[in-house]
Amino acid sequence: MPSVPATYYDGLTSTRQTAEVSLHPEGLALFGLDGRMITTWPYPKIRRIEGFSGTGLAITRLPEPGSTAEPRLEIADPAFASQLAARAPLTLTHGLAARRERWTVVGWAIAAVVSLLGLAFIGLPAIAGRLAPLVPSSAEVRLGATMDPQIRQMFGGSRGLKTCTNPEGVAVLAELVGRFERAGGLHLPLKVVVVDHRLVNAFALPGGYIYIFNGLLQKARSADELAGVLAHETGHVKLRHGLRSVIQAGGLGFLLGTVFGDFAGGTAIVYASRSLMQSAFSRDAEREADHFAVDLMLKAGGDPMGLARFFMGFGVPDPGGLAWISSHPANAEREQAIRDAVAQRTAVAAALTPQQWTALRSICQKTE
Ligand SMILES: [Zn+2]
Repeated sequence: MPSVPATYYDGLTSTRQTAEVSLHPEGLALFGLDGRMITTWPYPKIRRIEGFSGTGLAITRLPEPGSTAEPRLEIADPAFASQLAARAPLTLTHGLAARRERWTVVGWAIAAVVSLLGLAFIGLPAIAGRLAPLVPSSAEVRLGATMDPQIRQMFGGSRGLKTCTNPEGVAVLAELVGRFERAGGLHLPLKVVVVDHRLVNAFALPGGYIYIFNGLLQKARSADELAGVLAHETGHVKLRHGLRSVIQAGGLGFLLGTVFGDFAGGTAIVYASRSLMQSAFSRDAEREADHFAVDLMLKAGGDPMGLARFFMGFGVPDPGGLAWISSHPANAEREQAIRDAVAQRTAVAAALTPQQWTALRSICQKTE
């Protein structure tokens, strides 16, 4: 039986050896180029392996007990390959590396299924809830800074949104906000503006951006009512509800954007801005923000019942005009929760003096 050239890997080193193979009665004999026999593989121990392109054959020898070596032999000669096939089983076997690779694929598939199941059973909101605390404040502030101009455009058109800047009112607002920041132990500074717009609305963006619409400021019948709404929105900031909504709307893309500092992917932001503008948080989030607001006012000044009074005070909401009221529906449960929280504590002081309240209500006499 003539010998043919072959390529041999001993399975212990990565060295590629040029060799010759020939068929012997006891097995496949392998010779080095110097004519020395390297090894003989008994036919029953020979298996075919994958990974050889062309008409030839790649084979291995089933390992000896206690050995992990996976020798490999590539034979390009088709005639020789078919003669070998007549003697050896040549069923396909998978090498250790291939088996390892297969398990890796299986592992990833299992991980993918588990995370999909997680998504199905826990849901995106819960995942967003778990991710939000991991986002650094600096990234949250940058996110808010990206959303702020979009909000201003949405309400103000091409001219942008008009902010109320009457100095006495601005000073009162800054003083109240400063008190809330200190008492609330916020993770970032608040940026509260009164917007010259007749809509009865207020909302919070990630990063501490809070917008109070003049319509709401004028509708409030006392400083405590206004302070209650501001305290509630501060709660949304403190509890990072806006950030959670954005993560939910933007999903993984947002998360990656945060990690890599790229907020260019605008659609998620626009979508999230819209839902935040409508103050569309879950009932749980609203309850948490109410609870935070009660605590905050008890610490920072103001009668927390002002918040309950504000949303209980308007009856059936007019969907066009009373945006905040319709997104924060008055219900007995909500009011009772505030009442209960207040009952256990005593308020320290009024939110604002009558003079301060008057000054704040005139904040939109000057705008820019
Ligand atoms: Zn709210």
